[in-house]
Amino acid sequence: MDFELNEEHKMFREAIRNFAEREVAPLVKEAEETETFPVQLFPKLGELGYLCPGYPEEYKGGGLGKIGDCILIEELARVCAGISAGILVQGGLGTYALFAHGTEEQKQKYLVPAIKGQKIAAYGLTEPNAGSDAGAIETTARREGDYYIINGTKIYITNGPICDFVLLAASTDRSKGTRGISTFIVGRDTPGFTATKMRKLGTHSSATGELVFEDCRVPAENLLGEEGRGFKYMLEALDGAKISHAARNVGLAQAAFEASLDYAKQRIQFGQPIGSFQAIAFKLSNMATQIEAASSFLYQVAWLYDQGNECRKEAAMVKFFCSDLAIGAAEEAMRIHAGAGYLAESVVQRYFRDAILGHTTEGTTEIQQLVIARELGLG
Ligand SMILES: Cc1cc2nc3c(=O)[nH]c(=O)nc-3n(C[C@H](O)[C@H](O)[C@H](O)COP(=O)(O)OP(=O)(O)OC[C@H]3O[C@@H](n4cnc5c(N)ncnc54)[C@H](O)[C@@H]3O)c2cc1C
Repeated sequence: MDFELNEEHKMFREAIRNFAEREVAPLVKEAEETETFPVQLFPKLGELGYLCPGYPEEYKGGGLGKIGDCILIEELARVCAGISAGILVQGGLGTYALFAHGTEEQKQKYLVPAIKGQKIAAYGLTEPNAGSDAGAIETTARREGDYYIINGTKIYITNGPICDFVLLAASTDRSKGTRGISTFIVGRDTPGFTATKMRKLGTHSSATGELVFEDCRVPAENLLGEEGRGFKYMLEALDGAKISHAARNVGLAQAAFEASLDYAKQRIQFGQPIGSFQAIAFKLSNMATQIEAASSFLYQVAWLYDQGNECRKEAAMVKFFCSDLAIGAAEEAMRIHAGAGYLAESVVQRYFRDAILGHTTEGTTEIQQLVIARELGLG
C-alpha cells in the first residue's frame, strides 16, 4: 500500500501553501473585519489554475481530483476558514451539478468561466422552512412558454451576495414532492433576483446571503439536466462537498494547533514555558495525534471518491469526524491561550468562532449521524 501523495499532489500542496501565505494571509484581517470576501482571489486563483483543481483539464480544471480539492481547501483554511468557504463552494456545490449534468453549451457558458475565476458560483438549496429537511423547499418554477417563472427565498447561501450565478433548486411540480424538484442556473442579473448579506458569528470573510426570487424569468435552456431530477442532483453534489468540508476542518485544526504550539513555547509562567507543564504538553500531543489521524482518514476518503467508489457513508463519517476535530482543537487552543485567546485581536478566538460552523454546513452533524446509521442498516 502506498500512503504518499503523488508528486503532482505534493507540488500542488507546496504551491498552494506558498500562495496562501503570500497572497491570502495579508488579506485576512481586513476581510474579517469588514465581513467582505476578497473577490480578487477568484480570478487570481483561476489564472494560476488553482481555483478548481478537481475538475478535468478539458474544462480548464487542474485534473487533480478530490485529493487536489482537499489540498487547496485545507491549505486555505489553515490561513482563513472563511475565505476557504467561498472557494470550496466554487469548486464543488456551486458547480458540481453543472459538471455532472450540464449540456456542453451550459458548461462553456458557466462552468469554464467559474473554473477560470471569471464567474462566481453559489448553491441555493436551503430555505426558511427547509433546512435539514431540504425536500420541503417551497420555491417554485412555473413553465411559461420559453421561460420558467421562479418565486421563493433561499437563506444562508455562501457566495450569494457576490455570485454571478446560482444553481437553484425549485419545485416544478409540488404534487410530486422531491421528484418534482428541478435545478436551474439562475444568473445574478436576472430581473427579480435580489441578494442581501446575512451577518454571522464566524467565517466573517465568507459572503453569506438571502436570495429572493420574485417572478424571476429564467430561460428554459437554463434548466439543468431533466425536470424532476434536481433534488438528486443537489444531493449528489453534497457527497464530494462533505469531503472538502472535512479538509477545511483539518486545515482549521492545524492552524489552531500551530498557534498553540508556538504560544506554549513562548508563554512563561512559574518561571518556565507553559508547554513544559504536562497538562499543556498533553493537550498538544492529543491535538497532533488527532490531526494526523483525521488527515489520513480525509485523504483515504478523497482517494476512494476519486476511484469512482460510492462513498456516501465515508463522506458523512469524515465530515462528522473532522468537524469535531476542529471544534475540539479550537477549544483546546482557547484554553492554552487563556486570556490572550479571548481578546478580539487574537486569531484563536476566530478559529473558535469559525470551527463551530462545522456542525451545520453541508448537513448538520446529526444528519451525518443519521446517514451513517442508515448505511449501517439502522432506521
Ligand atoms: C454559514 C452558512 C453557510 C451556508 N451555506 C449554504 C449554501 O451555500 N447553500 C445552501 O443551500 N445552504 C447553506 N447553508 C445552510 C445549511 O446547509 C443549513 O443550515 C443546514 O442544512 C441545517 O439547516 P437549518 O439551519 O435549517 O437547521 P434545522 O434543519 O432546522 O436543524 C435544527 C436542529 O435540528 C436537528 N435536526 C433536524 N432534523 C433532524 C433529524 N431528522 N434528526 C435529528 N436531528 C435533526 C439538526 O441537526 C439541528 O441540530 C449554510 C448555512 C450556514 C450557517
